[in-house]
Amino acid sequence: MQYVRAPMTAALNIYDPSAKPQAGPTSLVGLTRPQMLDAMKSAGVEDRKAKMRAEQVWRWVHHHGVTDFEAMTNIAKGQRSVLAEQYTLARPDIVERLVSVDGTRKYLIRLAPGVECETVFIPDVGRSGALCVSSQVGCTLNCTFCHTGTQKLVRNLTAQEIAAQVIIARDDLSEWPTSNENRQITNIVFMGMGEPLYNLDAVSDSIDIMSDGDGMAIGRRRMTVSTSGVVPKIIELGKRTRAMLAISLHATNDGLRNELVPLNKKYPIAELMDAIRAYPGLNNSNRVTFEYVMLKGVNDSPAEARALVSLLRGVPSKINLIPFNPWPDSPYECSDWETIETFAEIVNRAGYASPIRTPRGRDIFAACGQLKSESERMRASARKAT
Ligand code: SAH
Ligand code: SF4
Repeated sequence: MQYVRAPMTAALNIYDPSAKPQAGPTSLVGLTRPQMLDAMKSAGVEDRKAKMRAEQVWRWVHHHGVTDFEAMTNIAKGQRSVLAEQYTLARPDIVERLVSVDGTRKYLIRLAPGVECETVFIPDVGRSGALCVSSQVGCTLNCTFCHTGTQKLVRNLTAQEIAAQVIIARDDLSEWPTSNENRQITNIVFMGMGEPLYNLDAVSDSIDIMSDGDGMAIGRRRMTVSTSGVVPKIIELGKRTRAMLAISLHATNDGLRNELVPLNKKYPIAELMDAIRAYPGLNNSNRVTFEYVMLKGVNDSPAEARALVSLLRGVPSKINLIPFNPWPDSPYECSDWETIETFAEIVNRAGYASPIRTPRGRDIFAACGQLKSESERMRASARKAT
């Protein structure tokens, strides 16, 4: 199956939101509204009917999750067959699907030959559950504790490919049609592979798709975009998406942060904090999340906990202490549980509630970028064995 993918330019594969679908049968699943309108016009729907038809199909796809044009009962039979001749309702393939003992589900999704990304469903976050989506395959930044950082950037994902990750998870959890009650996927977090602010056009379009009330209807304030600190894009993110902001901080002084998150050399902590303070819509009920990965003997002392508290003073914030999830040959170890508790207590006393994020899905390699490598390793050894 072919996916609608914008033409890629130069080495960084810049996503072009105005690009038309490629020739051949393309999938309508995960298109933006303007792309759906274009698709209807390309299928020969008269101009005066195209807008309504696009709205109908868009709703069938994103509210009902249909996989067959025949299910679109408010569209005339003839019209349905025309659409079926030219388009599909196919989803990208799931290469691996792993379900953890704790309910975490992890998918490795093939978007195109050689282009695979990870998506993780984590139950019990927020009211019900969060889906962690990828925005790029690989990453250009090389945070030293992150496994994705060891993988070269393959390319940016399109808005369609980001939205398709949610659609696939909803298929798997039987969450169609969209309902407001008993949802399992209530929140979206851009904490999978890649740096979302290096792919902001696609991320922003995908948030439009996922938040649309006629589709998946996931509120914008239930979406969190995590960045390692691409300062010039932070305010733009807020203005364009009205999503919640998360910052991968991990250190409170430039010396250490330069080491852990090399992007800090370009955008040091003081500049980062200024951009965060100016994030649109920030207040006590819409706080910034600061992620802090606990690395043994590196950033986990009580003095660093106190430095964290004073750095965040005056910023409406939440703190997420993330136990480091080790990967083969990773240069760090996770802090001891006692050390994490001491750190958390200092942060707690400063008024931040239960900040430790419990490790989820460890049995299925749920750390960022790990399933992909593990799966490639297993497939490589399977190839060798045959
Ligand atoms: N590129 C973005 C979003 C993806 S990473 C960013 O860096 O914010 C999502 C989160 O997972 C980040 O906070 C990142 O620091 C954290 N992370 C990466 N590797 C990890 C590991 N091995 N253990 C624990 N957390 C990790
Ligand atoms: Fe990229 Fe985020 Fe990993 Fe850093 S932590 S290498 S920015 S995915």
